[in-house]
Amino acid sequence: MGKKFTRKTILWSLWTLVVPAGLVVVYNFFPPSVADPWNLLAYILFFVLMSLMPMNINGASTFLVQWVTVALFLKYGIFIEMLVSQLSMFIVLYRSRTNEAQSLRIPFNSLMFFLMSLIAGLTYKAAGGQIGSLELSHVVLYGLIFQVMTVLSNQIIYQVYDRMTGNKNKFLSIDAIWDFVLMLVIFPYAIALYIFESYIGVPALILLGVPFFIMTAVLKMYNNSEQVNIDLKKAGAIGHQLATRLETDEVLDQFVVQVAKMFKVEYAYVIDYRDDLQQMLRVFENNKLQPRVIKSIPYNRGIAGKVIITNDSYVYDEKSQWQDLVTGNLPQDTESLMATPIARNNKTEGVLVLASKKKYAFAKHQLQILEILSTYFAVSLEKAGYMQKVIAKSERCGLTKLYNYRYLDESLESCIKEMNEGRLTQLSLIMMDIDHFKSINDRYGHQSGNDILVQLADILREEIGDEGTIARYGGEEFVVLLTDYSKDLAMLLAENLRKRIEKHEFLIESDLAANREQQIVHITLSIGVSTAPDDSDEGMSLIRNADRALYIGAKQAGRNKVAAYSK
Ligand code: GH3
Ligand code: MG
Ligand code: MG
Repeated sequence: MGKKFTRKTILWSLWTLVVPAGLVVVYNFFPPSVADPWNLLAYILFFVLMSLMPMNINGASTFLVQWVTVALFLKYGIFIEMLVSQLSMFIVLYRSRTNEAQSLRIPFNSLMFFLMSLIAGLTYKAAGGQIGSLELSHVVLYGLIFQVMTVLSNQIIYQVYDRMTGNKNKFLSIDAIWDFVLMLVIFPYAIALYIFESYIGVPALILLGVPFFIMTAVLKMYNNSEQVNIDLKKAGAIGHQLATRLETDEVLDQFVVQVAKMFKVEYAYVIDYRDDLQQMLRVFENNKLQPRVIKSIPYNRGIAGKVIITNDSYVYDEKSQWQDLVTGNLPQDTESLMATPIARNNKTEGVLVLASKKKYAFAKHQLQILEILSTYFAVSLEKAGYMQKVIAKSERCGLTKLYNYRYLDESLESCIKEMNEGRLTQLSLIMMDIDHFKSINDRYGHQSGNDILVQLADILREEIGDEGTIARYGGEEFVVLLTDYSKDLAMLLAENLRKRIEKHEFLIESDLAANREQQIVHITLSIGVSTAPDDSDEGMSLIRNADRALYIGAKQAGRNKVAAYSK
């Protein structure tokens, strides 16, 4: 704040000292001879019209109006050129879409234009240039001197200013090269305008102005369609990335960050619309996602509220357009806004709001691109939600392809129900746990541990077949549910299983050994058995009882054993 204030003071003091007095001095030394004030007025009107046509070249707004100021200089001299340059500076500032402090830009630009006019004009005079000459070689030679000096002094002033304010800047930047190239493009136009106007008057302005105007408009249109192409490509890439995300949280995070980056906005918000409330789902500020959670607000409030009610997208160019709509959640320095519904099956489920500190930050086509993106987003979100449900609903363990705990639980409940309804008389449950499995992991690596689990699952499938339901209960714990099995029968089956495993040679490729040779590993099982309705007639306690038998009767009794639950 302090630094800006002093810079402002210095710039305004310099301006006050230099510009008004400078204009008076220049007027006295080089009084303009205006024989035809109407022509001059036409020239100035023409100039203003040209200034209102900005062109986007190389990302920056460049004004090609210099072809008119050069012609004006050649005809009326340094003073008129100075006045018109000052005028053009104001038009540029008025139309430029930044919110940078105008209090700094006005004195700086005014001073710079004054100095540019002064340096170029004096060089012209000193070199022997004549105002109002109609000799072609003279006009071309000295006109070129004037043009080169204008561009050069502009570069030098920027360099000096950047040095003084501590900004680092390369001398021959792309912008500087562009300025020189543009100067070469418009110079012949300037000469033609000057000579033509001197001979035929105002019609020259129209004759030369029309093609120039059209050329600028076409270039502008070309630039726009180029930008649309670029934006579409980026949107496609974002859509592609979103599609690869499998979790809803990931989709949300990715989306907000990518969209904020693409549109170069400082702020981005995803708002969820549910139960007549708006809830902030994601907040992107200061270049990162913020943990801030703002309390819910009624669905119809603010800009998001407008989007929800009308189911339409909106773009605002500056604060005054939306100020009366807002709820106070947007940062103070917000200017441009873009908001679009996030819809699924034609129903608005949320709102995306992008906000920029710049005025006029968004081009018209960008709103459409944002709409496309929000569709990608809604689809990805739906897909991710669906995937999560599928995973949650799955009934098999990914590693062993045995049933998982969830399935076992449901299956157990339905068996108990059948038993209670008299359709099933007995139900046994075998629970097994691999002995000292941790040391196998430690010795051969986790991957080898997994290989053993897979081979064990194969053996279980082989041994049990259709007799029972086999599930992976936990890490290295398995359960078999056996319908119509008495305890004795279940004990027999468990004992056979224990013996088979004890003898089985598990083949592994140790990922810890230097040479990945196959190795034979032996494991043993501790097994617990419980039966309904003997021990219990509830699913949960059937499991608990088998577990207790396993730990007390088998593990604590020395492992590699089968034990039955006894009350
Ligand atoms: P014991 O049961 O005989 O008391 O000894 P343990 O070493 O088997 O001990 P515990 O049952 O407490 O630990 C089970 C170990 O099994 C822990 C973990 O290292 C391993 N484990 C669990 N799940 C997996 C898995 O999916 N893959 C692999 N490789 N190891 C697992
Ligand atoms: Mg265990
Ligand atoms: Mg174990």
